[in-house]
Amino acid sequence: MTLTAAVAVDVGGTKIRAGSVIDGRLAHVRSVPTPATAGAQAVLDTIAEVAATVIAETSGSGGADSAWRIGVGAAGVIDPATGVVVSATDSLTGWAGTDLVSELSARTGLHVRAVNDVHAHALGESFAGASRGTRSSLLVAAGTGIGGGFIADGRLLTGRNSAAGHIGHVPSAAAAGLDCPCGGTGHVEAIASGPAILATYQRLIGRDDSPTSAPAPESNPAPVPANTRELAAAASAGDPLAVRSFDMGARALGSALGGIANILSPEVIVIGGGLAEMDETWWTPLRAAFAAELIPATAGAPLVKAELGQDAALIGAASLWDDEPGRKKETH
Ligand SMILES: [Zn+2]
Repeated sequence: MTLTAAVAVDVGGTKIRAGSVIDGRLAHVRSVPTPATAGAQAVLDTIAEVAATVIAETSGSGGADSAWRIGVGAAGVIDPATGVVVSATDSLTGWAGTDLVSELSARTGLHVRAVNDVHAHALGESFAGASRGTRSSLLVAAGTGIGGGFIADGRLLTGRNSAAGHIGHVPSAAAAGLDCPCGGTGHVEAIASGPAILATYQRLIGRDDSPTSAPAPESNPAPVPANTRELAAAASAGDPLAVRSFDMGARALGSALGGIANILSPEVIVIGGGLAEMDETWWTPLRAAFAAELIPATAGAPLVKAELGQDAALIGAASLWDDEPGRKKETH
């Protein structure tokens, strides 16, 4: 399958990445900070600027002389049919209600399509990554939050209000009583996301007053991990409470995904996001808890690591243009 010459843009809360995708190949990738607190107009201006830079650099190197399209994967719940941000968290100030298609078309003079960034991630892995060649797949992005996208017969399930895929917000017994970033309580994201795993560790060290775990007075203990990356390093080094924190999060997520696999029965479940970069400290309990939930009819469902990393959202955003020009990517 051949892609139209497209500028793909991934709009996150901290950075905007963009690159050209021609014949399925990503090139001329640029990354700039997101003016996250400056309002939607500033973000749109930055997207238009980086897209123009990518086009100029690609054309300057003889990469394309055809008509350009823009495909956007962006934070927030986005209606793929209109390109409007239906709702959004406050990670981008004033983002909800932004009409990405109209605003970016006006700034660039180019045709624009837009989807949610995790949905773009799912499309990218389906198009050219770990789930390529399958008829149905579930992409799970496990990192700062837990999101997902389900694809059947090449089409993204967007659901009512384009809100399908909020995998982090299924109830989890392991998260009972824990506050979730969505405003609810007891959702799996509240125990399984990167920040939630760090919070578990902080609860464990605060609670752990057993004499055997106290450092000897003359020892020089390592500093307490201050973020998920440092906690991952501590877990890899064998810190038992760090290992336990990742284990609790991974088991909760694995159970939730097993339940979802029983509903959707995808050919493959692809795990991306920052947590997927963890070693077996995280993967082993994830796989065990996942397998334990599967019914005989879904047993053996493959759970695999994503392949495209942060390029997945760009490949997926470009794939919004992989059909005939002028026709909307079908969603259902
Ligand atoms: Zn929630």
